[in-house]
Amino acid sequence: MAVVTRFAPSPTGYLHIGGARTALYSWLFARQQGGQFVLRIEDTDRERSTEESVQAIFDGMQWLGLAHDEGPFFQTQRFDRYRAVVQQLLDAGLAYHCYCTKEELEALREQQWANKEKPRYNGKCRDGAEPREGVEPVVRFRNPLEGNVVWQDAIKGEISIANTELDDLIIARADGTPTYNLTVVVDDIDMGMTHVVRGDDHINNTPRQINIYQALGAEPPVFAHVPMILGEDGSRLSKRHGAVGVMQYRDDGYLPEAVLNYLVRLGWSHGDQEIFSIEEMIQHFRLENVNRAPSTFNTEKLLWLNQQYIKSVEMSRLLELLPFYLQQAGIDTAEGPSLEAVLSELRERANTLVALAESCRMFYQDFDEYNAGAAKKHLKVSAAEPLTMLKEKLAALANWEAEAIQAVVQQTAETLELGMGKVGMPLRVAVSGSGQSPSIDITLALLGQQRALARIDQALAYVAARAEQAR
Ligand code: GLU
Repeated sequence: MAVVTRFAPSPTGYLHIGGARTALYSWLFARQQGGQFVLRIEDTDRERSTEESVQAIFDGMQWLGLAHDEGPFFQTQRFDRYRAVVQQLLDAGLAYHCYCTKEELEALREQQWANKEKPRYNGKCRDGAEPREGVEPVVRFRNPLEGNVVWQDAIKGEISIANTELDDLIIARADGTPTYNLTVVVDDIDMGMTHVVRGDDHINNTPRQINIYQALGAEPPVFAHVPMILGEDGSRLSKRHGAVGVMQYRDDGYLPEAVLNYLVRLGWSHGDQEIFSIEEMIQHFRLENVNRAPSTFNTEKLLWLNQQYIKSVEMSRLLELLPFYLQQAGIDTAEGPSLEAVLSELRERANTLVALAESCRMFYQDFDEYNAGAAKKHLKVSAAEPLTMLKEKLAALANWEAEAIQAVVQQTAETLELGMGKVGMPLRVAVSGSGQSPSIDITLALLGQQRALARIDQALAYVAARAEQAR
């Protein structure tokens, strides 16, 4: 049978990192099996569902490259279908109207609470209830009273729940709208789902859903419940731990391939391999090898992976990604050295694309302020002499290349009998403004002769002003 999996988020917030990982696992399994991946938006909770969240899910999935083969389906467009199934269950005696009022149910719950019993519906209307004036009934599913619901979870192994643990759940509210446990089963049947990969926060719903499958005469899919993600303090991952929407990771300068790589390893492993291309993930991913225990989110590791990707992706990929960040940073690279040449020097040192874009700035934008610490330390009055000599020698240089520039710096140090640091550092601060740049010869070579000389002039003026102040 052809595999069909899905991602079925409720659009009540961002697509967060946990949801993205569930989507990835489900997508990987479908891809690996040559199956179909369905995107379904579970928007029946009309009060909490928003357009922005739907868009955030689409954006996040697209950014991550988790393309769906079918959908997106919206549950709100399927109410007629759910209504028909509820009616079908009512007609077959597999569901019933319940006229218990909110107050009665509350009193029941309190009583159960006082008796230290598990709160559950007592089945009062199960064997027939007279309509009550002014009470719109809900529809409850007639859960079996005996036996166990047993399933082989692809991640957690065999799970068995006694029907006595379950009560008759509401499948349609008083206003006729269907509830999650019904809609999810109807959709998963109609859409031919063979495997349901979802967070283990849904594990308590699964036995109830399996009973509904049986009532509808359908074979339940394989369930795979993915354990949750914890923050580094051991509590459930939340905003507090930096768990933001996936698009925030884009804005913060992560490559989608690094985020996917991080997510696939967060709760799954293949030997001790850390770096996986998408093709390798598809090839090696196994639901059975997903950890049964929760995993801990670790920003350091994500950053490390991101850095590996920045170092190693094709240059064409960097050139495709970087304009967004350059634009965000207000850096125009139309004039100046080739971006490719600059990136090949800088990519080794950046762990985010935001940092990488920022490190490009000095090659395209002049500045009139120095990093205070760097200037204090390196643009001292004593820097005037080496800077002056450097300027003369560099101005005279006919071939503006790293090697020749390096020779000039060396000669200057030798002639003035100064250590390389006393020559190189003032020069570096002069041209970069911060003292942070690739090696000085390459920095100058990229910057170009004219711009480099102008910056040395600017630094000399700064040093002169400092000397003036000191007098
Ligand atoms: N809509 C549910 C959620 O976002 C997921 C339901 C499911 O995967 O079965 O938590």
